Amino acid sequence: LVEVHGVHKSYGTLEVLSGVDLVVRPGEVTVVIGPSGSGKSTLLRVINHLEKVDRGFVAIDGDLIGYARKGDTLRELKEKDILRQRTRIGFVFQSFNLFPHLTALENVVEAPVSAQGRPRSEVEPEARALLERVGLGDKADARPRQLSGGQQQRVAIARALATRPKVLLFDEPTSALDPELVGEVLDVIKDLARGGTTMIVVTHEIGFARELADTVVFIDAGRIVEQGPPAQVLDHPAHERTKAFLDKVL
Ligand code: ATP
Ligand code: MG
Repeated sequence: LVEVHGVHKSYGTLEVLSGVDLVVRPGEVTVVIGPSGSGKSTLLRVINHLEKVDRGFVAIDGDLIGYARKGDTLRELKEKDILRQRTRIGFVFQSFNLFPHLTALENVVEAPVSAQGRPRSEVEPEARALLERVGLGDKADARPRQLSGGQQQRVAIARALATRPKVLLFDEPTSALDPELVGEVLDVIKDLARGGTTMIVVTHEIGFARELADTVVFIDAGRIVEQGPPAQVLDHPAHERTKAFLDKVL
């Protein structure tokens, strides 16, 4: 269970998130849509504590992200503890962000070993199985520059799964890809969604949202304007701003 409660975030005088509340239940797929600059990436980044919130909180399975409660006050966790917490949240970026000097297999093995302290002998077979699962069993020894964008993004998905996270966050996972490579990455994400992986996906792929989202969230200017099942938000939006946005992207 992912819980975002009353989150505010500003950069200088610019308020990017203005009181966001969001709950994602286990096994649910939440798709976040909204105009450029509306705060979608920032929302994902605060969930992962890559950005600190100014107000409100994020909790996963009841544990605050980035903080420990001490009586009535909050204390920020140490970097090491934050890194460990982050292993419960898989993050897939628009631009893949693989370690360029490591092979596909090493990219997948890295976090479970270094951040979770698991033995390599146990992690490596799992990593190979994950590469298999994203259709890259034969690319374990390839380095990122030897892989296509779609293949790199599938390695990034395997890497995000390697720590056995509670939730996967995707930030426009297909928007940096050539059109002919979008399908192979979407297929992997769809497979995971059908398999019950809890995920929050920022995407402009409305077809994906319609097919697989339990909840579609429309965010504009740092606020959730509306949220609900795809048939409601995408086909019968209640707000003018949602309608205007959908008219542009559909
Ligand atoms: P896009 O669809 O273009 O990816 P987005 O909805 O993901 O947009 P964000 O990246 O969350 O939008 O950015 C929201 C606003 O916050 C933008 O106006 C952006 O310029 C600003 N912003 C984001 N990160 C920072 C930062 N580190 N410092 C200052 N301003 C930032
Ligand atoms: Mg963004």
